[in-house]
Amino acid sequence: MQPQDLLQKHFRLTPLQLRALNKLKLKTIGDVLEHFPVRYESSGSQSDTRSLVVGDKVTLTGSFSKIQAKKLWKSRRAISEGTFEDGQGRVRVMWFNQPYIASYVKVGTPVRMSGVVGGSADKPYIANPAVEPVTAEEAIQDTGMFVPDGTDTTNTLYAVYPESQGVTSLWFRHTIAKILAARVHEHTRDPLPQTLLNQYHLPGRSVALVWIHTPEKNSDAQAARKRFAFEEMFVLQVSRAQERARNASMQTYTLVEPEKYVEKFLSSLPFPPTGAQKRAIDEVIHDMERPYPMARLLEGDVGSGKTIVAAASSYAVVHSQPPGRKSGTLQVAYMAPTEILAQQHFESFITYFKDLPLNIGIITGSGCKKFPSKSNREAATPISRTQFLKWVAGGEIAVVIGTHALIQKSVEFQNLALTIVDEQHRFGTAQRHALSKKGTIAPHFLSMTATPIPRTLALTVYGDLDLSLLDELPPGRAKIITQIVTDDTRNEAYERMRSELDIGHQVYVICPRIEEPDPEKLNALQAKSAKAEAKRLQADVFPDVEVGLLHGAMTPKEKEAALREFTENKIQILVATSVVEVGINVPNATVILIEGASRFGLAQLHQLRGRIMRSSDVPYCFLLADSKSEVSVKRLRALAKSSDGFELAEADLKARGAGDLYGDKQWGISDIGMEALQNMKLIQAARTEAEKIVEKDFELSHYPELRAQVQLISTNLHHE
Ligand code: ADP
Ligand code: MG
Repeated sequence: MQPQDLLQKHFRLTPLQLRALNKLKLKTIGDVLEHFPVRYESSGSQSDTRSLVVGDKVTLTGSFSKIQAKKLWKSRRAISEGTFEDGQGRVRVMWFNQPYIASYVKVGTPVRMSGVVGGSADKPYIANPAVEPVTAEEAIQDTGMFVPDGTDTTNTLYAVYPESQGVTSLWFRHTIAKILAARVHEHTRDPLPQTLLNQYHLPGRSVALVWIHTPEKNSDAQAARKRFAFEEMFVLQVSRAQERARNASMQTYTLVEPEKYVEKFLSSLPFPPTGAQKRAIDEVIHDMERPYPMARLLEGDVGSGKTIVAAASSYAVVHSQPPGRKSGTLQVAYMAPTEILAQQHFESFITYFKDLPLNIGIITGSGCKKFPSKSNREAATPISRTQFLKWVAGGEIAVVIGTHALIQKSVEFQNLALTIVDEQHRFGTAQRHALSKKGTIAPHFLSMTATPIPRTLALTVYGDLDLSLLDELPPGRAKIITQIVTDDTRNEAYERMRSELDIGHQVYVICPRIEEPDPEKLNALQAKSAKAEAKRLQADVFPDVEVGLLHGAMTPKEKEAALREFTENKIQILVATSVVEVGINVPNATVILIEGASRFGLAQLHQLRGRIMRSSDVPYCFLLADSKSEVSVKRLRALAKSSDGFELAEADLKARGAGDLYGDKQWGISDIGMEALQNMKLIQAARTEAEKIVEKDFELSHYPELRAQVQLISTNLHHE
């Protein structure tokens, strides 16, 4: 058996298992060996039938002594009833609407069953439990039943794997036991240098694989998890350190005395910049005075005023002379994720630069415009694409705003010195390099995001970028009122919507996304719920205003049209899926109602809520809690209490792990890596060590295993 062997070569798999394994992206023996347990259970943590507490979730091991199908007399509902015994006592079990349960749960065979205890203290029962067959040895491990005298069972741990339909946790335990018995783990090579293992007291890879799957004690399992977390973070950081080193070796346009222009720009604004804005601008222009390109991420909550930072930096750039020339200007490309946002940035820039003459252009799928127009110094004018491209290539248009159309090959700049990217997490290193390939000189790069990212995560996924924070809102913003409502109190939210609509304000209603692996299905599902909700609101609740619709299954043109109508107040209520999350700015919207709020990550809810935190009118956010679960209500309460995105992101990282932070697993980090993000020391150690190794040996020629791993993740990243 070899790590690269396909599973089918050594294990007999049913089509159902094969499909499930494919879905989990587990194809080879090595893949399964690196599929880690989510937790461990020991015989000690098992409940038994003597100590059942109503309302508790319990796991019991034993067997059924009786299973019977019945029909409830009144409702004619099918129920099955069974008696479960674990050697200590017995408990009644009921299955509702599962008439075939008796055909796959066999009387007398050992099983492990989990469920919530219902009924009363003297008559407890367990309804609809999950049932998993176990081997006789496992039943013994769990319960201590029939344990031969003198056997010590107190420290027996067994690994629990995430289950999916087709492959059970038990399947993983058995399969991995066989893989370990065949000593496959001894053939995997360690990307961590021995010196690091010694320095941080980490087990080697082969030992760690045994410990993580079949630990004898908890401390072994924890040591192994820490090791794999460190490995993942270290490999990532090495790749980021290489990026940084590569960036530092590139040439760029170096600005001379940019602060002169920044001051001129800032003093032309109708308001003073916030302290945070000043700091961020200083960091940006300082970067641009160096001989190599800036690579910086600007993180600032919604409404913190990132556009001013973009404008000030742009202003400094376009006033610098290209090297060795007396005429012409350096240019800026400013990229937005949607046409509407590009249009909004264009308008903001026109306002910000109105007393500071400067040519600004916009290019999107629906055409090109230039400001100022020749005939009217106050207005923008549409121009042909050909003319636009000519002016950009000739350097006449200094600031070019646009959508993705901007990085297309046909757009040639004369002297592109700064690229600004707004709200595009996917704008990765590869695209950045594509931009710089156009000339021998690479532009400075500034990425901006309103997504609050906990510091450890930022250091990891954006480890190749320097970080600036806008942690201060401009003064005078009204404080948002966030309220949790249930179906019973839904009308309170509608009353508030009504009174805001009456004074001419607008409203968002968000319908949940549902976690679904198939994006086609996801779009269809979202569309269905948003469509149905829009219809219902229009017909039954708000017949006298215009209700519009926006969801992921619409074409880009349809989406733009819907957004435009909302921006122009032709639509008063916009029913949407979470597609409105990014950057949309309609200051007249003052209410957002989020259906199924518990299904969103906290950070995502905060982003949605940000849609209405954009003016001095008091905004209202209503969170429809469809789940009464303690955890989810607690999360929503945190949101009601705090309006600081960073605080919320840190809180959510602690509570749920970063995978849930944004509602999906978008960072390409494993679960174990996500656990590591709670550990700042580990992240910093990985970063420091990565820097050291890259400084010594950029090509990693002395570390072939490490080099292979780093290459693997860089190709994955670039294919995102
Ligand atoms: P972000 O892009 O960070 O969400 P914007 O740049 O769109 O925020 O700014 C939001 C609003 O705040 C804009 O209307 C902008 O003019 C205003 N603004 C920005 N900075 C300040 C400031 N220092 N004082 C007052 N208002 C500001
Ligand atoms: Mg913005």
